[in-house]
Amino acid sequence: MQTSFDAIVLGLGAMGSATLYQLARRGVRALGIDRFSPPHALGSSHGDTRITRLAIGEGEEYTPLALRSHEIWRGIERETGRDLLTTTGGLVVSSAGPRATCHVPGFFANTLAAAKRHGIRHELLDARDIRRRFPQFAVSGDEVGYYEHEAGFLRPEACIAAQLDLAGRGGAVVRRDEKVLGFEESRGHVRVVSERGEYRASRLVVTAGPWLPGLLGTTWAGRFTVRRQVLYWFREKGPVADFAPGRFPVFIWELAGQAQPSYGFPAIDGPGGGVKIATEQHEAATTPEAVAREVAPEEIRAMYEEKVAPCFPGLSGECARAVACLYTMTADCRFVIEPHPQMPSVIVASPCSGHGFKHSAALGEALAQVVADGRSRIDLPVSGWKPSGRESPA
Ligand SMILES: Cc1cc2nc3c(=O)[nH]c(=O)nc-3n(C[C@H](O)[C@H](O)[C@H](O)COP(=O)(O)OP(=O)(O)OC[C@H]3O[C@@H](n4cnc5c(N)ncnc54)[C@H](O)[C@@H]3O)c2cc1C
Repeated sequence: MQTSFDAIVLGLGAMGSATLYQLARRGVRALGIDRFSPPHALGSSHGDTRITRLAIGEGEEYTPLALRSHEIWRGIERETGRDLLTTTGGLVVSSAGPRATCHVPGFFANTLAAAKRHGIRHELLDARDIRRRFPQFAVSGDEVGYYEHEAGFLRPEACIAAQLDLAGRGGAVVRRDEKVLGFEESRGHVRVVSERGEYRASRLVVTAGPWLPGLLGTTWAGRFTVRRQVLYWFREKGPVADFAPGRFPVFIWELAGQAQPSYGFPAIDGPGGGVKIATEQHEAATTPEAVAREVAPEEIRAMYEEKVAPCFPGLSGECARAVACLYTMTADCRFVIEPHPQMPSVIVASPCSGHGFKHSAALGEALAQVVADGRSRIDLPVSGWKPSGRESPA
């Protein structure tokens, strides 16, 4: 068994599968290792769909990553014949008064500014326009919409599977169902110890998602918070075609008078499959070990009454399914991608604060560039980020 590599990727979810694929493309001798068999439903990358949008309200410096990710996913689709990215258009609804904020204050205005700055095709809609174009949304008089033409959704499980397939075909070693117990650096080499063996490499990229706080221990304590989130699929009352892609966009709704926004997707599973809608909670912290995986009937009822029925009269309270998923948050909702303070050959990359999937293909590429060439082509917008003036493809 091969035990010595140029690079090891620890965790093969969204970020790790992208990194391993990109390392293999560059001819780096790489090992990817995961405690489960990705794609799986225990971390942060399951639930059929993830919104992708190009004008990034969490920080316009993320837009080059989203643009580059779309290019990469289209390339992988061509190479593998898989369906990864569906363009549906995306609607962000907001209003001037007290309302929920999506991730950061000023999300709506930031989104618009990013669209203008990066030339992202969009329209501004008033409530009447929204009702006319998208009658499924029961918006009120003072609500406004930002509509982005190239927004849509990604299929996270298919993205991960495709990148792992390509990584394997490109020569990377993929070890599944093998838990890493720890790692250490000495004399410029990293030693990774798993339940089944030991591996050595010049570089280690740790992309362990919500398990990261546990793996890194006290050095990083307090930087990340893991939070349980729930995804719901509510059935439509009328024809599913009313909520199908083409008629119904992906959306984020900064709900008036509420603390948390809602977001959702068109119906992609046909009649009875439901329309996936979710909100966020930022009150209670958890861990992947302790989290309640089951969704209680009271949670489903509350979600329907508070955030679905008043907004989408065409959806019923019948819930086709509901699943729990994990956000790994930083205090400012930004990403942590940086060398380990005590182990310079180790790059920690992952906690993407609930908005990382859309950027993961380009982040994987950037991480592989850092490993192979010493620097990434796109600036990595991380927690406490300051622009370096480096090249941006946007
Ligand atoms: C409900 C929900 C909705 C979201 N919606 C969106 C959205 O619409 N748009 C968007 O862009 N982003 C969204 N996100 C965020 C995005 O999905 C995440 O940022 C991204 O999936 C995180 O990927 P990751 O690789 O960091 O973690 P994961 O995909 O969880 O991967 C971590 C991997 O590490 C492995 N691992 C952990 N510990 C070990 C160990 N000791 N040994 C070996 N392997 C280990 C795990 O098994 C796992 O496979 C959402 C997230 C959630 C939870």
